[in-house]
Amino acid sequence: MSENLIIFNAKVVTPLGFSARKGKEMAELQILENATVEVVDGTITYVGPNRGEIRDGYYHHFWHYNARGKCLLPGFVDSHTHFVFGGERAEEFSWRLKGESYMSIMQRGGGIASTVEATRKLSFIYLRSRAEGLLRKMTSMGITTVEGKSGYGLNRETELLQLKVMRSLNNDECTRVDIVPTFLGAHALPSEYKDRPDDYIDFLIRELLPVIQRDSLAEFCDVFCEEGVFSVEQSRRLLTAARDYGLLPKLHADEIVSLGGAELAAELGAVSADHLLHASDAGIEAMARKGVVATLLPLTAFALKEPYARGRDMIDAGCAVALATDLNPGSCFSGSIPLTFALACIHMRFTVEEAITALTLNGAAALNRADSIGSIEVGKKGDFVVLDSDDYNILPYYVGMNCVNTTIKSGVLYPSV
Ligand SMILES: [Zn+2]
Repeated sequence: MSENLIIFNAKVVTPLGFSARKGKEMAELQILENATVEVVDGTITYVGPNRGEIRDGYYHHFWHYNARGKCLLPGFVDSHTHFVFGGERAEEFSWRLKGESYMSIMQRGGGIASTVEATRKLSFIYLRSRAEGLLRKMTSMGITTVEGKSGYGLNRETELLQLKVMRSLNNDECTRVDIVPTFLGAHALPSEYKDRPDDYIDFLIRELLPVIQRDSLAEFCDVFCEEGVFSVEQSRRLLTAARDYGLLPKLHADEIVSLGGAELAAELGAVSADHLLHASDAGIEAMARKGVVATLLPLTAFALKEPYARGRDMIDAGCAVALATDLNPGSCFSGSIPLTFALACIHMRFTVEEAITALTLNGAAALNRADSIGSIEVGKKGDFVVLDSDDYNILPYYVGMNCVNTTIKSGVLYPSV
């Protein structure tokens, strides 16, 4: 659904450009007071000073929205989530709070294996309605584009089912968010392939990539490149094959140890490398040079009590940095954009301006969409958030509090409740 909309008396706050903003550029925002933004059939056609035509009836066939001086930002882009899954792991979380080790939790049937088991049991309709409920929560915080990953099936049937759920939700007129699907079959090693990771990678290449390409079920291929999961060599093999099937590479990289994931992302020209808690200096430098978006997930570090990724160093090294929520049933059951802002600015030393760029234009770049979303410019989609204030500094200042007054998706208004 898209509409004609005229927004006037807005304070436009936006990064500019049709590609990722790197290093120092991340702090550069365009700010226009008393501005008008015109959206025709869902696409931005004018951004500039208020004009007089409103009184002359020029905008007769438009919805009108008076922003009353409040901040108008690009819609937020959450470029890394796992929102399609079965079951929850709240009890396991309580074990972790009591100090139980990861291994002990695995032995009690917890961990990703329990989510895989629960997801495999669900039918399409149950999986879809669960995912839809989560999306509703996320969009109330201003997300207008969200990435979602498979990776809780780890077999042919359920991996494809997760991707089909995302396609179905994306095609639904009632879904007020664009969904970008990523194939993460290499999220973990399923029990059926115990101690045989190479055979499992062969299976993904042989049995799943051709179907995903044939049915256009995903845009990206991701892999959990980590010690004890998939090696750098296995990750390289999968992502190289995926590219031959038209899927762009992404990586879960250097989350637990410094394995060389950031370096591999640079070598492959990956669109993004994500997590990066233990990325090496050489890896950071290589990502900056090759234009790989470094996607940081502070909610996960917070929930796991891990040190935050070195976002400040990455920006200072000239990287394009994005922020995302990593909503998932294991390490981080949160899709909170407001808390992401707070953690990035309070604990990772982002400026507010850098955090805004990271959650808009650079998030769009991490999804290969910087040409169509992520900033308020003519030719881009009419996706916006209106804040509760004329001061965008409230974004981290309201710690974890939603300060989005209204979300606008393709020119359609959705007031927050
Ligand atoms: Zn993830």
